[in-house]
Amino acid sequence: MRILVTGGAGFIGSHLCDRLLQEGHQVIAVDNLITGARANLEHLSSRTDLSFIAHDVTQYIHVDGPLDAVLHFASPASPVDYLRVPIQTLKVGALGTHNALGLAKAKGARFMLASTSEVYGDPQVHPQPESYWGHVNPIGPRGVYDEAKRFAEALTMAYHRVHAVDTRIARIFNTYGPRMRLDDGRVVPNFIGQALRREPLTVYGDGEQTRSFCYIDDLIEGIYRLLHSHETGPVNLGNPSEMRILELAHLIVRLTGNPAGIVMQSEKRIEGDPRTRQPDIRKAQRVLGWEPQVGLEEGIQRTSAWFRERIGVRD
Ligand code: NAD
Ligand code: UDP
Repeated sequence: MRILVTGGAGFIGSHLCDRLLQEGHQVIAVDNLITGARANLEHLSSRTDLSFIAHDVTQYIHVDGPLDAVLHFASPASPVDYLRVPIQTLKVGALGTHNALGLAKAKGARFMLASTSEVYGDPQVHPQPESYWGHVNPIGPRGVYDEAKRFAEALTMAYHRVHAVDTRIARIFNTYGPRMRLDDGRVVPNFIGQALRREPLTVYGDGEQTRSFCYIDDLIEGIYRLLHSHETGPVNLGNPSEMRILELAHLIVRLTGNPAGIVMQSEKRIEGDPRTRQPDIRKAQRVLGWEPQVGLEEGIQRTSAWFRERIGVRD
């Protein structure tokens, strides 16, 4: 297949490019590098089956030749990032999704949207199944991301219903691993970076809020299976093993032997920060035969080994 990946130089996008190339597909990565980096694709620079186009997908996307699939992964994803560029975040979810869908329609290509657990907002149903409509504040600070993705899902379904585009919607829950930016502000790179620098880990709020963390390799397997499935509606992809943020901090302190411990920063918690989050993955299990394999300890060890090498920390 000849596959276009928007956001291909990002954390998830670059791992997806790796997998698609491994499976023998030809890949075109499109990215404006607003939160990603060319370095994420550097190891592939000698490959002739990967091409890179520096382009903002909120502008018309032009590609010569046929395409079999358009995978729309472009969007700032970390709360720190999307609060820094809220209008670009809304635009890539709305205009970027429109352009990517238009491209898929014009080429007769399959389309996949990287959606998010944030469509459930601060959920009142726990764990969250795909049938839950969510609890989102459209005018809160996180609304720029949540509503952009909700609009993107609505547009994807409209193109499916009106133009018969063959669609996939991956509702991705917190995913972590190598190639995240140490400064992207998300909890796993923040905590690992702090631990490696022997600084205290910053727990926002009371640390009682929960998340469920999925290792990148597991997510990519789920995305690849979804792409090749016949499921046109949304599918949750994430690791159902849920934990409190304070517990995550303790785990990382233990695994890294960080003597600086933990500091509570109640004021740093962003308004509307979901209290709980856990995917109900029964649909993915049933439709894709998929469930995560990598436990949190192992995933954290692999991720901190990667960061350790990058920032030159010795034991
Ligand atoms: P990321 O910031 O590492 O990657 C996003 C990429 O999109 C970056 O390379 C960025 O430069 C690019 N991009 C942004 N706006 C663009 C534009 N207008 N034109 C072209 N490129 C643009 O983030 P990520 O964690 O890899 O997330 C990838 C996708 O997965 C996003 O759509 C995100 O919403 C979704 N997602 C991620 C998670 C997660 O836990 N990592 C969870 C839910 C959903
Ligand atoms: N968080 C924290 N310390 C940090 C960074 C984040 O306690 O240094 C908390 C944050 O308040 C949220 C959770 O960790 O409750 C997950 O935040 P992240 O930014 O990773 O993504 P989110 O799941 O909120 O989109």
